[in-house]
Amino acid sequence: MEDLKSLKIRGVGPITINKLIEYGYSPELIAVTPAWQISRETGIPVDKVELIAERIREDMGIGDELMTAKEYYEMRKSMEKISTGCKALDNLLLGGIETGSITEFIGEYGAGKTQICHQLSVMVQLPRELGGLEAKAIYLDTEGTFRPERIVQIAKYRGLDPDRALDNILYGRVYNTDHQILMVRNLFSIVKKENVKLVIVDSLISHFRSEYPGRENLAMRQQLLNSHVHDLLKLAMLHKVAVVVTNQVVSSPDVFFGNPLKPAGGNVVAHGCTYRIWIRKSKNKRIAKVIDSPCMPEMEVVFSITENGIEDL
Ligand code: ATP
Ligand code: MG
Repeated sequence: MEDLKSLKIRGVGPITINKLIEYGYSPELIAVTPAWQISRETGIPVDKVELIAERIREDMGIGDELMTAKEYYEMRKSMEKISTGCKALDNLLLGGIETGSITEFIGEYGAGKTQICHQLSVMVQLPRELGGLEAKAIYLDTEGTFRPERIVQIAKYRGLDPDRALDNILYGRVYNTDHQILMVRNLFSIVKKENVKLVIVDSLISHFRSEYPGRENLAMRQQLLNSHVHDLLKLAMLHKVAVVVTNQVVSSPDVFFGNPLKPAGGNVVAHGCTYRIWIRKSKNKRIAKVIDSPCMPEMEVVFSITENGIEDL
């Protein structure tokens, strides 16, 4: 199905359809979002949403039947990896950043999260034999720290034409949480049209934290963040793109032993992100470590940030 406007269902008029569009819902997103959630957000009665979603799923051939573990295994094998351009980091990630999942880079100021995002938006463009997917990247920048000049440097080092490398990155500056949520929803149709294999949100959390400060806003913030992370996960799985997000660390005052720092966003982010990499700065090198992974070894690797981007030490 191309767009919602071409949908003809008895009892569903243009007002309903326009409302869905206004809230950033594409057919794909409606197909995979709980009807009650869409209903609560848009005010459209839940039975009407169900009717629409059912029709879309029918058209898209999305069923609710089970699959065998073997089929699931085959599907997982079709997931591809984007090399980080750094052997140590690739080893840590069992080959690179995976499509179909969310990978989260966590760290303090200056840890190198944004640098990794720049590097990946170049790496995804490389031919497969060099670790890329010959595809475009989308870069959602919430902090205004994206630097095209940096892309030029990294692209040159990787043997890409800098102008083409810049053309292959679709950039969006994100101004607030509403904007961020809507932009991600709009990506469902963009990713389908363009050859995009990487979506970056740098940073996932910053707007949520500044717009919903303090304990009194925590429940609301976590609820919004939860639905946003799920949108990203759906985007990753449905369109087989790699989603990369960055996250800050916060200090938890109640920790007396061990590391008082923890990733922001709590359980909502922890559960939504498949791979979580913690980066810390140590003199002139960076140390990366996987945290809470279902299938990766707990180990640490080192790398450096240079003029050329992210490199092995
Ligand atoms: P924040 O939480 O503030 O967003 P971050 O984890 O995104 O931090 P980055 O902006 O990725 O941090 O890292 C900045 C660091 O990267 C700089 O402090 C510097 O050490 C390094 N860096 C940036 N550009 C270059 C360069 N051209 N050559 C060498 N190192 C660089
Ligand atoms: Mg940054």
